Amino acid sequence: MKIFKLETYKGYSIFFWIIFVSILGIVASLFYSQNKIDQSTQIKSSLDNIYFQKTIKEITNSLNPRYTEKSYISKSGDTHQTIINKLDLSKEEKAVLLSTIADEKSLKILKINQKFTFKFDHLSEQKIVEFIIETDKKNEVLFRKSKTENKFLSEKIKKNFKKKLVYKETIITNSLYNSAIDLGIKPNIIIEFARLYGFQVDFQRDIWKNDSFQIIYEEFINENKKIVDTGEIIFANLNLQNTDLQLYKFEYEKNKIDYFDENGKSIKKTLMKTPINGARLSSSYGKRKHPILGYTKMHTGTDFAAPIGTPIMASGDGKVTKAGWCGGGGNCVKIKHNSKYQTVYAHMSKFGRGIKKGKRVKQGQVIGYVGSTGLSTGPHLHYEVIENGRKVNSQKLKLPSGKILRGEERKKFEVSKIKIDVLKSDLLLKSN
Ligand SMILES: [Zn+2]
Repeated sequence: MKIFKLETYKGYSIFFWIIFVSILGIVASLFYSQNKIDQSTQIKSSLDNIYFQKTIKEITNSLNPRYTEKSYISKSGDTHQTIINKLDLSKEEKAVLLSTIADEKSLKILKINQKFTFKFDHLSEQKIVEFIIETDKKNEVLFRKSKTENKFLSEKIKKNFKKKLVYKETIITNSLYNSAIDLGIKPNIIIEFARLYGFQVDFQRDIWKNDSFQIIYEEFINENKKIVDTGEIIFANLNLQNTDLQLYKFEYEKNKIDYFDENGKSIKKTLMKTPINGARLSSSYGKRKHPILGYTKMHTGTDFAAPIGTPIMASGDGKVTKAGWCGGGGNCVKIKHNSKYQTVYAHMSKFGRGIKKGKRVKQGQVIGYVGSTGLSTGPHLHYEVIENGRKVNSQKLKLPSGKILRGEERKKFEVSKIKIDVLKSDLLLKSN
């Protein structure tokens, strides 16, 4: 019995050992996983640590490549000098580049949208090893640093690209940018599109769901049928709440290209200084004694005296944000032209036909008629220009001048417009 008991005890002890070992195992694994959490929070906090980040930056900096490239596309107002001055180079090196460009006859005239590409060697004192200037989309000049002298050798290169005109159209479902990207339109074309429409459209607020656009632009295709570059926008139409805003590319003088609406008006819209015909400026912007209130007050607009019923025009394209009673301003209309400019027209006797909040108006369109409603001593138009939310003197505004094509230019434009319209229907047929 005794022996038997002992044996049973021994059996039990093995059982205890097994329990003990497994508890030990559980504790150890718990300890290990806790340790792991601690470790990962430690790693995370050291990643958040600014010194560590600095170190990472230094490491990656020292791993920066020896050669880098920088590209620039010329804009209106640029000169070769202003472009070269953007580069981080010594005065002497800039001078060498400038005289090299000046010596190249094919680069005499700097055009808009010319592409410049500079290749930098960060280990060399004279940083630029080569640079390329596009003369047009099919030709470029390559300048290579001479191995023996501090000068560049030039070489004209013909790019074997084919120009293709592309037509795209879509309904805007979420954002203009996303809808355009979904269509496969390259970002630089979208940016140019937004720039061209920026004179008349506030992209933050004016684009609604189910608005649409059409666009024709150039693409350049290499021998392998790959799109290597995009050219210019030839035509575009942005349909906002059932109003078409069209633009046509037109070369009105040699090398002078602009975009015009269907009536030959440049889309670079200016605001009219006097949005009324046959009126006399009766009170200008500035401090004055208020004719009704009696005390000196800032006059934040310009007054034009005119007989009751004289038509008042929208001073620029835009969207009516108010057409109603403005208290002291009487019957007034407020127009938003783009993200920067708004105009206000006060004391009207009545509003123009169909003028109400949300309506899109064209420059010169009648929006109301002179009256003397609100705080007014006699029939006049009180006109205000608001720039970035601040009232400014409309008579001293410097805005881009909107060219209007007339005479011979207009005739040529009409021909070019018809050609583009024909092209549009051709491309539309092909795309369907
Ligand atoms: Zn006034």
